[in-house]
Amino acid sequence: MTLDCTYMENTIIGTCNQLAYNYPRKKNQDKGEVEAKKKAKGNEIVREIPQVSSSLFFQYNTALTPPYSVLVDTNFLSHTVQSKLELLTTMMDCLYSKCSPIITDCVMAELEKLGPKYRIALRIARDERWERLKCQHKGVYADDCLVDRVMKHKIYIVATNDRDLKRRIRKIPGVPIMSVARGKYLIERLPDAPEK
Ligand SMILES: [Zn+2]
Repeated sequence: MTLDCTYMENTIIGTCNQLAYNYPRKKNQDKGEVEAKKKAKGNEIVREIPQVSSSLFFQYNTALTPPYSVLVDTNFLSHTVQSKLELLTTMMDCLYSKCSPIITDCVMAELEKLGPKYRIALRIARDERWERLKCQHKGVYADDCLVDRVMKHKIYIVATNDRDLKRRIRKIPGVPIMSVARGKYLIERLPDAPEK
């Protein structure tokens, strides 16, 4: 009898231990599965981002609100002329909102220096509807000027087709880039996390 009792007790304890041992393991397994599912879901969301309308990008940079201030560079103006696009309307078609093209002193000086080949671009730049920004720096090199401005104030979109300038701007969070594509302008979001 004593033997039987001990045997039963041991069996019960054994079962309990096994349950206690199994339970958290099962729980962890479930947790792991849930995490994996969450992760998979997260990955799906990340993959979906490029399909979302580019205009949604602006929700990340609260300093950027319509009417958008667009710093236009020399190169963007010449591409606009080549593609026979109208600066302001093409810009508004791209951003679905009011925009204000901005011409800095150095961009204007660059265009003046480039000669007769850029006379139409220069004429567009001189349009009195656009905002003009005074430059304090020496020389007419506009790239450094534009980079400097967007580093200090996150209120601009930079419009350029220059590969080097685009690369520099992409490193600055919260600054969208506009470029001339076939028959229209494109707006590009940054690959890194924009500032909030
Ligand atoms: Zn400048």
